[in-house]
Amino acid sequence: MLLRGKTLRNSITLTGVGIHNGIRNKIKIHPSEERGIYFLIKGVKIPALHKYVVNTCYSTDLGRENQIVRTVEHIMAAFYLLKIDSAVVEIVEGNEIPILGGGAKEFIEAFLSVGTVELEHYQKIFRLAEHKRYQPNGNFVEALPFEKEVFIYEGIFRYLGRQLAVYEGGLESKLIGARTFCFEEDIPNLRKMNLGKGGYHVNTLVINPSGEYLRYREEPTYHKLLDLIGDMALLGGRLQMIIYSFRGGHSTNHGLRQLIKNLLIEVKANKFPALV
Ligand code: ZN
Repeated sequence: MLLRGKTLRNSITLTGVGIHNGIRNKIKIHPSEERGIYFLIKGVKIPALHKYVVNTCYSTDLGRENQIVRTVEHIMAAFYLLKIDSAVVEIVEGNEIPILGGGAKEFIEAFLSVGTVELEHYQKIFRLAEHKRYQPNGNFVEALPFEKEVFIYEGIFRYLGRQLAVYEGGLESKLIGARTFCFEEDIPNLRKMNLGKGGYHVNTLVINPSGEYLRYREEPTYHKLLDLIGDMALLGGRLQMIIYSFRGGHSTNHGLRQLIKNLLIEVKANKFPALV
C-alpha cells in the first residue's frame, strides 16, 4: 500500500485557551509541500518528531532552541487520522496548541472545512521489524508487527473499571470527540502543579463517583486512544503495526517510541508497480 502525500488546501486559523497555560493561544495551520508536520514558533521550526519531545508529563511538548510548543498530541492525532502528512503549524500567540473541545474533533472539522490536496511525494509508511514492549511498571505499551494499522487502548479507571477502545481506521465520533479528562479529587494537585489552568467542562471530562459528566462510559479510554495515536504519530510516518497500550500514558508512549524508532522499516515506493 502506497499513499501520496497530503496537505491542506488553505490555511486555517484557530484560537483558544491552552489546557495547561490557561491563556489565549492562536495558531495558523498552513499547507506545505515539504513532507512532514512542523511547528513554527518565534522563527524556530520544530519538526513533529520524537527527538524533539521535551516533556511527557500531562501533555506531549516539543522543543528546540529554547522554544517550546505544548500539548501537540491532539492536533497530531487529527493529522494522523486524516492522513495529512505535510503541514506547518505556526504558533502566533501563546505557546500551546488550543485545547478547543478537548479532543481532535475541532481540528478535524477545521481540516475538512478547507479540504485537502494530494502531493507529489509518497507518505512514509513504516513496518516493524520485531515485537517490542515498553514496561516501566505494571503498565505497558507494545508494538507488534502486523500488515494493518491498529491501535488499542485498555484502561482500568477508578469508578469505571476495565475498558477497551480500538482504532482500525475511520473517524468514529467516540474517538475524535473524546475529551481530555481528570479525576475530581486530583484537581487541587493539578492546580498546585500549575497545570490544567484552562480546564473547563467543555474541554475536560471530570470523573467522579457519580459519573455525571461522562458523555459515554468509555470516553476516557477513547481519549487515551487518541493520545496514543497522536503520540505515536511523532515517529513521522504511518504505522503498519499493532500498537497496544495497557494503562499507558504520554511517558510510556515516549518509551515505546524510543524502543522502536530504529526498528522501523520504510515501505518504499516501487519504481515499477505491478500491473493490475
Ligand atoms: Zn489528551
